Amino acid sequence: MMKSTSYFVYIFSLLSIFLILSCASDENENAIDEELVPYFDRFIAEAEERDIIVDLESKNIKAVLSTIINSNVLGKCVMQTNGENLIIIDDNNWDSWTELDREFVIFHELGHCYLDRGHYDAIDSTGMCVSMMNGTAQGCEGQYNELTREAYIDELFNP
Ligand SMILES: [Zn+2]
Repeated sequence: MMKSTSYFVYIFSLLSIFLILSCASDENENAIDEELVPYFDRFIAEAEERDIIVDLESKNIKAVLSTIINSNVLGKCVMQTNGENLIIIDDNNWDSWTELDREFVIFHELGHCYLDRGHYDAIDSTGMCVSMMNGTAQGCEGQYNELTREAYIDELFNP
């Protein structure tokens, strides 16, 4: 009994060391919550298609999926005093969001945190938001779809 217990402890210690080592070597990847990574990768790919190199590390971008108390807020970009640009995506409704909803919110927050853009609330003659950086209460999420997506992303990177 005693022997098997210490054997277990030995295995467990090895496993812990392995986990700690693999976490350390993956530090950059861990800066972005695993569930959010595909949308950040998409942002990088969309930039690349427009001949823009995105280096999230250069802006010290971190991102978490977490609860935002104000239920109207879908995401936030918090520029912290330690130099970190922290993106918080609300986890309350994450599961019910479509792929495009998720992309919209994350690209909007990266517009703030990575591209240093503020809100741009212009509306065109048909009532469409000119930019996905629109920050009015009703927002433009509903106008972001397969047909409008390309133009909105063009505007995001080249305002
Ligand atoms: Zn905003």
